[in-house]
Amino acid sequence: MTDAELRARAAKVVPGGMYGHLNAAIFAPGYPQFFERAEGCRQWDADGRAYIDFMCSWGPVVLGHRHPRVEEAAARQAALGDCLNGPGPIMVELAELLVDTIPSADWAMFSKNGTDATTQALMVARAATGRTKVLRAHGAYHGADPWCTPSTAGTTPNERADLVEFDYNSLESLEAAAASAGDDVAAIIVTPFKHDSFEDQALVEPAFARGARALADRLGAALVIDDVRAGFRIDLRGSWERYGVRPDLTAWSKAMANGYPIAALTGVDALRGAAQTLYTTGSFWFSAVAMAAAKATIETLRDTDGIAAMERAGTQLREGLYAQAKAHGFVVNQTGPVTIPWLSFDGDADLSVALHWSDACLRHGVYLHPWHNWFMSAAHTEQDVALALEGTDRAFAETRSHFG
Ligand code: PMP
Repeated sequence: MTDAELRARAAKVVPGGMYGHLNAAIFAPGYPQFFERAEGCRQWDADGRAYIDFMCSWGPVVLGHRHPRVEEAAARQAALGDCLNGPGPIMVELAELLVDTIPSADWAMFSKNGTDATTQALMVARAATGRTKVLRAHGAYHGADPWCTPSTAGTTPNERADLVEFDYNSLESLEAAAASAGDDVAAIIVTPFKHDSFEDQALVEPAFARGARALADRLGAALVIDDVRAGFRIDLRGSWERYGVRPDLTAWSKAMANGYPIAALTGVDALRGAAQTLYTTGSFWFSAVAMAAAKATIETLRDTDGIAAMERAGTQLREGLYAQAKAHGFVVNQTGPVTIPWLSFDGDADLSVALHWSDACLRHGVYLHPWHNWFMSAAHTEQDVALALEGTDRAFAETRSHFG
């Protein structure tokens, strides 16, 4: 069954044929919709075309697909049972691992998606403070529930009425947002760096991170880090640990279990009581297989220094792309951490160059993205990146000859 045939069938039985962040209709025309299999840092689409993959399923795959240690842990748990009348012992082991690994974690709660964890974080903050307002950065993505989905279709203004926006990395703007919310601020929610789509990424200014911490303390509000996208790719201890800034609550998901569905909220002791008051749950939240996969993933990242491997591969990719772009006469910006990279073309406001180049990359067996950040995995070897760079070089050449 080809990609085109699958799309035609899907169009009849799935609204729009596909929806959400993996909807190929919102990428560039050459992107396949359906994928058949994956191994390490490679994926094969429904037409059998192979790609060296720099999207890692949009974040979840951090050790490479079908990593033996993770697969073995998941299979061992699956043989015992997955969705039971209560969590397996693995839930306690996983919570202990998170508490041991993450300095700001005194406890952990589990769910399925990043949106579950960010939503739960705001509930804990509101339960603890008895306040309603939440400060969040303009344009930041925190999930797809009505309070945070980027498209307002199907939502009501009321569902966002308690959000007050600030500009990322501007303490002045954060202070102004806080002032406009008076004494009603329950939480500040912030991503560890600015990774909004369609624009260059920006690392956090350490002074901003420290200022957000100080402001939350002054207000008696919770500082929430949304580490759903960056978690386990910058620092296993939490992405702001390097700046000496510890959050009260952290939302985790994506890379936590190498592709198995799980999310977590971790928090400090002072919020344990509030967390305990929530009624928050889901039929599949306590499935043991994903928890076993999460424990194996985090232990493997720790034992093998997976982040260092991603940093090496990401640096090789970034340096290679800079050299190629220059040789082909392009000025490019590469932004964000090397483990969560992105490239934009200077002056390419309508993205026409990026769309052409990423489409050419696809044709040369390299899967990356024209307007969303990419993700490295620990399975990208030096040889894989070198091979991918052969493809990107041809793509630069074709894009140069197309635009003259
Ligand atoms: N927060 C951030 C920063 C994210 O990147 C995402 C997912 N892209 C989410 C929250 C929501 O996670 P999920 O899609 O698993 O609900």
